[in-house]
Amino acid sequence: MNIILLGPPGAGKGTQAQRLVERHGMRQLSTGDMLRAAVKAATPVGLQAKAVMERGELVSDEIVSALIGEELDAMGSDTGAIFDGYPRTEAQAGSLDAILDERGRTLDHVIELAVDEDALVERITGRFTCANCGKGYHDTFEQPKVAGECDKCGSTEFKRRPDDNEETVRTRMAEYRAKTAPILPIYEARGIVSRVDGMADMDEVTAAIERLIST
Ligand code: ADP
Ligand code: ADP
Ligand code: ZN
Repeated sequence: MNIILLGPPGAGKGTQAQRLVERHGMRQLSTGDMLRAAVKAATPVGLQAKAVMERGELVSDEIVSALIGEELDAMGSDTGAIFDGYPRTEAQAGSLDAILDERGRTLDHVIELAVDEDALVERITGRFTCANCGKGYHDTFEQPKVAGECDKCGSTEFKRRPDDNEETVRTRMAEYRAKTAPILPIYEARGIVSRVDGMADMDEVTAAIERLIST
């Protein structure tokens, strides 16, 4: 199974992708995570992407599509893929079709996480992750069960993203509206889009997605 999770920054794509990975052994392909790893390792791609990401703008289509192709090639052909934060433009949607086609994969579901923009700034500015395993948390909505200790791996180190500030979030939301939301009709025409209420509790969102993919 191959799924796209679509929604603005803070919609819950990463949170839900991590749960699908745990429940179904699927693989999360997050271009944001891949780009952050490239920035950290100071690869040529990372050096090119760093300033763009800090501004909250989009990295070039060629770069992200190449990353996705490489990541797909590195996983087993029967492992399902969850695309998180990709595609984000019409050009990327076109590339993804070709990338999947070349590898004999088909797109089963595009799940749109529908959220109120007003809630997103709070979600993003309160977001943090485990520095060791990457599990996501939130200052208000999802604290570790034992304070200061990751539920999943026990690490006591956490990190926050430099672009998770209010000003950058506004740019990222504008980018979403202008470039990413317009790709929905491409998938609607294929009849594979489902809308999930992303304002519901995390567990309810998970249950809605589970119902969707099991039909
Ligand atoms: P995205 O990957 O779409 O940018 P995340 O999954 O990282 O979004 O979620 C953003 C923040 O909001 C995280 O801190 C996460 O814990 C929190 N969050 C995710 N889903 C919900 C939800 N349904 N209700 C409240 N908070 C949520
Ligand atoms: P969020 O889910 O919170 O919007 P991501 O981690 O997906 O954030 O992306 C962080 C940043 O990485 C984006 O603001 C953008 O600069 C870059 N990025 C990630 N994925 C893409 C993509 N598919 N196309 C272009 N830029 C991307
Ligand atoms: Zn952890």
